[in-house]
This record gives sequence, structure tokens and C-alpha cells, in this order.
Amino acid sequence: MMAQYHEIKAEHPDALLFYRMGDFYEMFFDDAVAASAALDIALTKRGKHEGGEIPMCGVPHHAAEGYFLTLIRKGFRVAVCEQMESPAEAKKRGYKAVVRREVVRLVTPGTLTEDSLLDARRHNFLAAYAVVRDQAALAWTDISTGTLHVMPMSPVRLSPELARLAPSELLVAEGSEASLSEAAADMHVPLTPISRGSFDSTSSEQRIAALFKTSSLEAFGSFSRPEIGALGALVDYLELTQKGKLPLLQPPVREATQSVMQIDAATRRNLELTHALSGGRAGSLLATIDKTLTSGGARLLERRLSSPSLHLTTVQARLEAVSLFVNDRPLSQTLRDALRKVPDLDRALSRLALDRGGPRDLASIRNGLGQSQDILTLLGASSLPKVLSDASSSLEGHDPLLHLLEDALVADPPLLARDGGFIAPGYDADLDESRQLRDEGRSVIASMQAQYAEMTGIGSLKIKHNNVLGYFIETTATHADKMLSAPLSETFIHRQTTANQVRFTTVELSEMETKILNARNNALEIEKRLYSSIRQVILDQSAKIANTASGLAELDLSSALAEIAVDENWCRPDINEARDFHIERGRHPVVEAALRKQNGAPFVANDCDLSGGDKASLWLLTGPNMAGKSTFLRQNALIALLAQMGSFVPAAKARIGMVSQLFSRVGASDDLARGRSTFMVEMVETAAILNQADDRALVILDEIGRGTATYDGLSIAWATLEHLHDVNKSRALFATHYHEMAALSNKLDGVENATVTVKEWDGEVIFLHEVKQGAADRSYGVQVAQLAGLPPAVVQRARVVLDTLEKGERDGAPQKALIDDLPLFAATPAAVPAQKQGPSELETMLDDIHPDDLSPREALQLIYELKNKR
Ligand code: ADP
Repeated sequence: MMAQYHEIKAEHPDALLFYRMGDFYEMFFDDAVAASAALDIALTKRGKHEGGEIPMCGVPHHAAEGYFLTLIRKGFRVAVCEQMESPAEAKKRGYKAVVRREVVRLVTPGTLTEDSLLDARRHNFLAAYAVVRDQAALAWTDISTGTLHVMPMSPVRLSPELARLAPSELLVAEGSEASLSEAAADMHVPLTPISRGSFDSTSSEQRIAALFKTSSLEAFGSFSRPEIGALGALVDYLELTQKGKLPLLQPPVREATQSVMQIDAATRRNLELTHALSGGRAGSLLATIDKTLTSGGARLLERRLSSPSLHLTTVQARLEAVSLFVNDRPLSQTLRDALRKVPDLDRALSRLALDRGGPRDLASIRNGLGQSQDILTLLGASSLPKVLSDASSSLEGHDPLLHLLEDALVADPPLLARDGGFIAPGYDADLDESRQLRDEGRSVIASMQAQYAEMTGIGSLKIKHNNVLGYFIETTATHADKMLSAPLSETFIHRQTTANQVRFTTVELSEMETKILNARNNALEIEKRLYSSIRQVILDQSAKIANTASGLAELDLSSALAEIAVDENWCRPDINEARDFHIERGRHPVVEAALRKQNGAPFVANDCDLSGGDKASLWLLTGPNMAGKSTFLRQNALIALLAQMGSFVPAAKARIGMVSQLFSRVGASDDLARGRSTFMVEMVETAAILNQADDRALVILDEIGRGTATYDGLSIAWATLEHLHDVNKSRALFATHYHEMAALSNKLDGVENATVTVKEWDGEVIFLHEVKQGAADRSYGVQVAQLAGLPPAVVQRARVVLDTLEKGERDGAPQKALIDDLPLFAATPAAVPAQKQGPSELETMLDDIHPDDLSPREALQLIYELKNKR
């Protein structure tokens, strides 16, 4: 057996080998050591190999899925090695023959399909990156839904595209890992190097053509060599990991670079599109606006949010669909009631294709298609906008399959086909007959019990069943003598004696048992055959079913976006090809929702107008910390993004000229893992914006230059704003606490000053969160510090220093002299907190207490008194 183990292991050196032995998967040697640590399971030993003991650990096979997931999350790959025959079959080949085993599957992050291992509401992409000389391409697939995409890709675009797709695994050619590891590490995408041959465009073309049963790839469009190579690598890797059982892939779709809004990784992170900065999904834009009811709808929402469109007509058409549901609330509600019952068609289909499915997947297809018919009827003949009428026609034409499934399946089938019991009675005559024989046999046995009880005169005699003996007759030990002697012993054959019981069989009973067993096995065989044929009928129609699934997702998404638009009072944006950006009473959806949850405080809506016509148009936003600058910046970026994904927006009115690129640099965090300081990160991101943004971009920059000395920071911020205005000519919002910069608006035509207002009352600041024309007069830093709970002495001292510096600056005194002249800290008035003067009333009372003199009753009384003083 060890020889077999080593032979198989040698073919999978980079994966943990899960070696099936009976009901367990066992791991040996280094695999066992690594897996036991990663899974926190016991490491044991078994036998000897070359003199040393063999480390070993194992997991029960029925619980293996959970272990796969843990291992994959920890960066391992798993090779699943199964027994391909039973020990009895092996024995037939010879007394010492080892059970034949084969690796049936490689489990990797990008090739998961199990429901339990996947988040139903998110895609799980496997990507491949191919380079041929100076051209490159990225292809990706979600094998749990079968989509297959490819796009040309310049190396500089790789990192942002990886950020958009967030694949679970990226295939690259062996030897090229080093040059790509930075982009991949940035996005936390695990790299899988595979042989260069997998990327070869000639053999790739043949592989893909064979997969789709066409003579050449031209049927799907013309693809460049790296595009073909990347697609071919995906297919090759799937063949390798799925051991020939290919998932149902849809024909490749080329995605054009120019069709979606460009958003780089830093911007996605900063705007918290799909993940909050804290890491989780909660608090992200996606989580806040997700009202979809189906898994397919949720995945579509994530896709749209990650890739807002640049096509005016596409965006308009989607908005038209949302509008219909906003206006026709009853229709929307009935549709949503029906959508609630739609199962995940895509994933059921893909499990069936990979032959990892079961009767419940057949039922999912039946239920999904059944719901589709209902939805088709309820949408009725109403004249629908194009997106919806396309979706609705994708629901048609499943009648024959639906009838088949409705006739064939029981309402709630079991999980596994091998257990049987999922085909409905009346569907197959042979099956009905076998089942009848089986059931009749059971009732014959039940009647035998009465017959034998009468015959023996033992009223307590029972016929029972267990897995070892099958059917048997049981009496208590007290009747043993009677049963074991003539005449009863002629009929009853002794099988087993336990402490209290004696067990028998009869010729008649075992004959009946054989009949039942045969009938049962026959029934199971028939069901298995029916399962395969129904599965095949479904797979023959897979393209049509997948099309229905995307129609349902589109309906779900449109009505979900209508739902949030109505609930949150959003408006339909007016999108055009000009360079407008005019928002009235805009809001930040995530902050607004958070405020409502925290304390019910209303969100203050604000206008924004960057419609500069041909000229640059920038707002320079000043205001103290905590006033709401970042919120205002982000809300406008989010409004543009929501509009172009085809959603209504959180504003009273919005007119937006298509934004081709969205950039944001908002707050920075140290990137310690890569040894960059906050300031360095900030500058790298700013450089990326200044090098790429064009006149169709929307840029939001927050507190540029904060991470360095005042004058350095001010100068960098100043120069950056000038560059954006003169060279990039982007629409931009620029927040800064350097109010000196407000002077720039006099110099540059396209720059306007705006400020987030605060009110000072009784020495404290009150944030009004209102954005107004003009510049902030002061930064109120000291007041904010006080709000944050800095000790009063420090706040007082800061006021003195600030007053001195400000006065000195007005009088033109040199800074050094000012600092030398500052009064000493110790002399600061009120450095001692007021409450420290003399003992309080409570303290006096406490001092007067002498515990030993008190009776328990007095002590209790005193506690009440003390409490009353609070
Ligand atoms: P800044 O960038 O000026 O330091 P933030 O944008 O981070 O300020 O806002 C600070 C806090 O103020 C937010 O967390 C939010 O609770 C609140 N806030 C911001 N803008 C608004 C608004 N328009 N209406 C209500 N509350 C707001």
C-alpha cells in the first residue's frame, strides 16, 4: 500500500494527498505534519518506512468538505484520492492485491463548486494571465456558473482588473511568477504557476474548439494569441483538476477594456465598494444596497457594482427597467414574492455537469423553471422596457422539460441519488413494480409475525431487522428451550443467542427477504438509471437554462434596485455624454444608514456642481476635521458609480456626464507589510492619479500631503491641484485642512472654494455638515481635540500656544522667537482640574464611616443614603 501511496503522491508533490482508506481520508509523512497543524487534529504514527515511523493523520470522509475549505484558506491544495474498487473486488485479483486508487479531483480555491464551500451571493473566479511577446490577456471563469470571459490586458492594467474581479486563483506560466507576484500579492490573489505548454495558443485553440465542438474559435469572435492562450490555460487546468470532468462552460465572451468605468484597486478599497476598510462585507456599499432575493441576483449586483458601464444606451436601458418597478409597485411586489422561491439554477446546473450533483439539483431546476413560468405569466403582456422584455423572453420554452421534471420527481427529494426515493410513483412502470414487490414483501413479513406467534404460542415473538442479520425472528431467552426442540426446531433455524434473546430464521422468511432485497436493489438500479437520463436531458438544455438563470437575475436586480430607490427616496439620474456633474441634495448611502442605526440622526444632504463645460472644474473643500469632508467626497464618487451601474442615486436630482475613470485617494493607512509609510502610500496613489486621469475622469482627493511636514505637505497639495486643473482637466473634489490653499481659486479659473460649515457655541464646535460656497476661516483643531476627550489641561495649553502663534504670525514675528517666548507649561492657568479642590460631600461621608461600629441594619441604611447622593 505504501508503494501505491508513494507512486500517487509523486504525481502531486505540491498538494496534500487525501488518501482514502475505508471511511477516512488519511495523510502521511510531511502532508500529515502540515495538515495536522493546519486543521488542528491529532498526529499519530503508523508502521515504519525506511527505519523511521510514519507520521499520519486522518479525517472522516463525510466531513471532508469542511477540512478542504480550511486547508484552502490556509493556502494549501488538496488532491483527493479515492478507492476505485471495493476490497472484495481487489481480493479477487489476488490475496495480497491492494485496492486500486486514483486521484479524482484536485481541490483548489478557484475550482470549488460545493454549496457548502462557496458564498452563494458571490462569484468564485478562476483567472489565467497569458503573455505573448508584448501582448497580454486575462481570461476568467466561474465554474460554479459556467461563465467564461477574456480581455486584452496591458501589464499596467493587471492590478486594477484583479481588484475588480477579485479571483480566488490566478494561473500564470511557470517562470513568470516573480514578475507578477507584486500585483497578485496586492490583491491577495494566490498564484498558481502551471506549465508553459498550457498557454500555447495553437494547442489551446484546438482544446477550446473541441470543448465547444466547433471547428475553430472564429465562431465566437476573433481572439488574439494571448487571449487564446489564457482561455486554453483555463481549460487545461480544469481538465487537470477535475480529472476530465469538465464543467459546463459557456462560449467565451470578450470584454472590451473600454466598456467599463476604470476603477483602480486603491479607489475600490477607499470607497468600500464590496468590502469595508475593516475587512468585512458589512458597512460596504454592496451590503448597504443589496436587496436582491436570489443568489444569481446578488452575484449580478456585485458584478455591476464592480464594473459600472460606459455605454450610455446600456445605462439608460437599465435605468428604464428600474423605473418601471419604481412606478409599478404592485407588479414589483408580486414579482419579488415569486423571486423569493427561485433556487440557484446556475450552481445546480454546474454541479450536475461535474457529476457532483444529486436529486435535489434536479429539483432545483424543476422549481426554478416552474417559478420562471409563474413569473412569465405575472409579467404578462404588459409592455416592458427592453432589458425586462429580453429577460422575460429568456424564461420561455421550458414546457417539455418542466413537465418531465414535474412528473418524474417527488416534491422533496433526498440528497443522494444512491439512496433512491426521489422518482415519483407513476413515472416508471418497472420502478413501480419493483417498489410494489418490495413493499408487499414487507407486509408479508409483518403478517408472518402473527402467524409465527400463533404457531409457537409465544405472544411476545417479534420479527425484526438489522444490518448484520437482515430479517430475523426474536424471542426472549426464556423460550429458548421450546424453540430449540422439536417440533418447532424443524421450522425455526437458530441464528444467534444474546444475553436476553434468541434469534431464528425460517426458510420462508429468508426467501421473502431475498425477494425484498432483489426488489429493492432493482428499484435503486432503475432510479439510478432514471437519474442519469434526466440529468442528461437537463444538460442538453443547459445553455437555455443558463439563459433563463441570467434573465431571472436581471429581473431580481432591477426590482431590488427599485426597492432601495423607493425605500430610500433615491432619484433617477440623468446621464449624458457631456462633462456635467450636477448633484442636488446628495447623500452618502452607507453613512446615512449607519447614522440611522446609531442614533437616528438625519443625514445632511448637500449639493455639488462640477459642470465646468469645456474647462476643468474643481472644488476645493476646506473645513475642520470631523466636519464631513470625506463623506461629501465619497458620496459624490458613489453617486457617479451607482448611476453608471444603472441604479437610481441618493439625491434629489442628478445630472451626470459619463465618468470613464474614477479615482479616489481618501485617508491612508500604513502598508507595513510592504514597508511603505503612510506618506509613501499616499504619494504612490497620487502619482497614479496624476499620470492617468483624463478630462472624463472624476477624481476625489482627501488631505493630500497630510503625512509630512506642514510646508512640504502644503506645497505638494498645491502643486497637485494645479496639475489636476491644468493638465488632467478632470472633474475633481479636493479636500484639505490647509486653508491657505483657498487663495488658489483666485488664480485658477476652474477652482471654486467650498467649506463644510461649523458653528462655535460656548467655546465648543457644532458640526452642521453643510457644504457651502467659501473657505473655512479656521481649523477648529483644538475644539475637536477637546471633543475627543483630550485632558482639559492639554486643551488649555494648546489654546495658549495657538493664540500666541496666530498673534505672532499676524504681527510678522519670526517663529523661533515666538516659541521661545511661550509661557511655561507649568504656569498654565487651570492646569489643575477644578474638581480636585477639597473633598466632596461623598468623600466626607465615607470618611465618617467606622465599619466596626455599624450594625448590619445601619450599614444597609447607609448604603441607601450613599446611593441617594449620586
Ligand atoms: P472629515 O473628513 O471632515 O474629517 P468625515 O467625513 O469623516 O469628516 O465625517 C465625520 C463624521 O461626521 C461622519 O462619520 C458622520 O458621522 C458625520 N457626518 C459627515 N457628513 C455628514 C452629513 N452630511 N450629515 C450628517 N452627518 C455627517
